[in-house]
Amino acid sequence: MQEALIQRLRSAVGHEHVTARPDDLRNYAYDGSIDRAAPEAVVFPADAAQVAAVVRACEELRCPYVARGAGTGLSGGAIAEFGGVLISTARMRRILDIDAANRTALVEPGVVNAHISAAVATLGLRFVPDPSSQSACTIGGNVAENAGGLHCLAYGVTSNHVLGCEIVTPQGEIVWLGGRENETAGYDLLGVFIGSEGTLGIATKIAVKLTPQPETTRTLLAVFDSVDDASKAVSDIIAAGIIPAALEMMDRLSTQAIEAYVHAGFPTDAGAILIADVDGLQESVGETAAAIGDVCRRDGAREVRLAKDEAERERIWRGRKSAFGAMGRFSPSYYVQDGVIPRTKLPEVLAEVEAIGRRYGLLIANVFHAGDGNIHPLIAFDEKVPAQVDAAIAAGADILRACVARGGSISGEHGIGIEKRDCMNVQYAPSDLALMAKLKAVFNPGGLCNPAKMFPTSRRCGESARTLQRADLPEGIAPAAGPAF
Ligand SMILES: Cc1cc2nc3c(=O)[nH]c(=O)nc-3n(C[C@H](O)[C@H](O)[C@H](O)COP(=O)(O)OP(=O)(O)OC[C@H]3O[C@@H](n4cnc5c(N)ncnc54)[C@H](O)[C@@H]3O)c2cc1C
Repeated sequence: MQEALIQRLRSAVGHEHVTARPDDLRNYAYDGSIDRAAPEAVVFPADAAQVAAVVRACEELRCPYVARGAGTGLSGGAIAEFGGVLISTARMRRILDIDAANRTALVEPGVVNAHISAAVATLGLRFVPDPSSQSACTIGGNVAENAGGLHCLAYGVTSNHVLGCEIVTPQGEIVWLGGRENETAGYDLLGVFIGSEGTLGIATKIAVKLTPQPETTRTLLAVFDSVDDASKAVSDIIAAGIIPAALEMMDRLSTQAIEAYVHAGFPTDAGAILIADVDGLQESVGETAAAIGDVCRRDGAREVRLAKDEAERERIWRGRKSAFGAMGRFSPSYYVQDGVIPRTKLPEVLAEVEAIGRRYGLLIANVFHAGDGNIHPLIAFDEKVPAQVDAAIAAGADILRACVARGGSISGEHGIGIEKRDCMNVQYAPSDLALMAKLKAVFNPGGLCNPAKMFPTSRRCGESARTLQRADLPEGIAPAAGPAF
């Protein structure tokens, strides 16, 4: 890395808040995806002014930079693929203001998702989007990925709960998108920014909506002999006009892994289980839970269990939230896919996922947001065996093709990043992608802000070598002088 840039970074954030030590950098080569690349420096700004100074230094010295929250992303978004500077939000983790009367809060981007709800719990409020990673992931990462969660079926994803963002643009300006009110005038630039995966600028403050906690929540567990029956129940529950707060499905492989890991009380011989949360007024939740139970029984559930107390509810949800980690019981590595399909297509797509697993000789478990049709096949493989890595990537691409062929999408909530950029043209026409590229160029004309994420390269969807090399750098991204960045 150029010494001049390191000096600029140090004067922007303070000497002790910049590291270029190889041992430190290795810790930032990862996120939750299977791509790896270390940055050449990591900086830890304390506020928007410092982020702006870092961005201006990188832009002037033509060095790529990438924002990073907790690094739990599952599509390689926070990976510094071309080296350069990683801008961590770890020091920007203050909850700046809570306005209980207007049900909003203003937070810094490094605040951990679950800490927002914890901070407003005594006011009877919560921040609804609850990714399974909520005890680690940051609100900045949630905004960048437009994260979903277990309870987004009834309440909507991150974009439905963010009112405004202060961002640092790639020009180094500090601007506001949206506001702290529900409606703002003019172009919906906040809508453009949410889900842009750190390619349009860096969020430095976020105004979030707070939602009253429900008076009561009941949790129901339904046990089925087959994935088909459970899938049918998902469609039938929604078709009956019931929108549970959450509606999740797990297949046998997932429940076996979870039981071995956290003992959530799931049956290990079931073909599939459904978990539903119903929340609202004391008088109505019992009725709604009973109606869901009736639909499940009609569709062949062999057991419908209503959690009897908070401890049992907590155990059931802990089991669901531990599902990804539990895969370690079966396999040294796993690759999480994230496709969306119309709910009615669940049985045929899940059958195809199983066939894809057989074709590549890989075990695939399924644990997912069934109510949203957002599937998460967990492909088990060994990352030390190159042929298995290639097979896992190819199997993942086939699953995405199967989703698009059924009228679905290549991502429900984990974003495109590096992982799925070469599958974007499975879903979009060249003209669609060209318009997105023009929009990106308005915000990020030099292409240095999280370069080459989200847009297809010359590779095909499912081709194995994933991270790009310096020679593949988009035109115009190169250091002005000095050693290679
Ligand atoms: C076990 C597990 C379970 C998960 N469950 C879910 C789930 O249920 N739902 C779901 O949606 N996701 C889930 N995820 C994925 C992940 O947690 C989310 O995508 C989360 O939003 C990422 O937040 P982060 O702070 O870790 O971001 P990072 O991984 O650090 O970054 C993700 C992206 O955000 C960008 N970014 C980070 N901060 C900023 C900022 N301040 N400004 C601009 N861009 C920024 C980065 O450049 C990158 O492109 C899960 C991940 C794991 C490991």
